[in-house]
Amino acid sequence: MGYSVKIDSDKCIACGACVSLCPRGILEIRDGAAVSNTPEKCDGLAGCVRKCPTDAIKVTFR
Ligand code: SF4
Repeated sequence: MGYSVKIDSDKCIACGACVSLCPRGILEIRDGAAVSNTPEKCDGLAGCVRKCPTDAIKVTFR
């Protein structure tokens, strides 16, 4: 059990806000959109979801 991080690359504008905010450092910008490089480390704090200006990130418990 853990959290799932999904980023809609069509919505992402690569602003980097989620990358600098994540305390676990699991997000990076790659090929013009944010991606989660180690999603298994997500704590589900979901600050990235609130910070994203385009509502591109979904964090769900699975
Ligand atoms: S905060 Fe949203 S728009 Fe900005 S890089 Fe992250 S996912 Fe993309």
